[in-house]
Amino acid sequence: MQARLLKIHDILCARHGAPFPYFSDKNPVSELVSALLSHRTKNETTAQAYQQLITTFPTWEAVKNALPADVEACIHSVTYALQKTAYIQDALQRIYEHNNGEISLDFLKNMPPEAARDWLEEMRGVGAKTSAAVLNFSRLRIPALVVDTHHLRVAKRTGIIAEKTSIAKASSMLFGLLPADWSAQQVYDHHEAFMYHGQRVCFSKRPNCATCSIVNLCEQKDLN
Ligand code: SF4
Repeated sequence: MQARLLKIHDILCARHGAPFPYFSDKNPVSELVSALLSHRTKNETTAQAYQQLITTFPTWEAVKNALPADVEACIHSVTYALQKTAYIQDALQRIYEHNNGEISLDFLKNMPPEAARDWLEEMRGVGAKTSAAVLNFSRLRIPALVVDTHHLRVAKRTGIIAEKTSIAKASSMLFGLLPADWSAQQVYDHHEAFMYHGQRVCFSKRPNCATCSIVNLCEQKDLN
């Protein structure tokens, strides 16, 4: 299965233009907050809410200590703003306590990636996608595989993983199929290539199989 996955990887990377520049250079705490805001929310709305938050409060410590209503007012445009306010303030409090009063996640780079993900996933609202994003998308640049719904759909339709696999399980299974010596950039490219394919070709409804570069490797090419 690894050979098959890597063949698909090569084709999709070529089609969608890898290597992909990182879209973010946030520190890991900022990436965590941004990722928490992004659940079930459009990218533009997430970016606006994040900007409002960091414009209103000078530090993450100020966000941690703020009245929840004031944080919620900044991020009101995202879905589940009340719940996300609690998740963000809880996360900042946990990081603050763990670091003896410093709100930083830089210590994660000294942990094995799986242990770092487990530590993050103990926080409310943090699942497999968010923990991997903090490690890989932030300036930590640690090899950790983000799997979103587009990535997941392509992996399922090509038969790499079974149809009923959850995102959490898929994240671990797909990462386990990648070469152990891949860099953060290679792992990032893998995610981006699958994600772009899901967004641009392998649509949820009526995938464009006629123009698909991996049609010969796909188990569900007759979806149309
Ligand atoms: S052949 Fe169709 S279903 Fe398969 S990956 Fe390509 S677009 Fe998706």
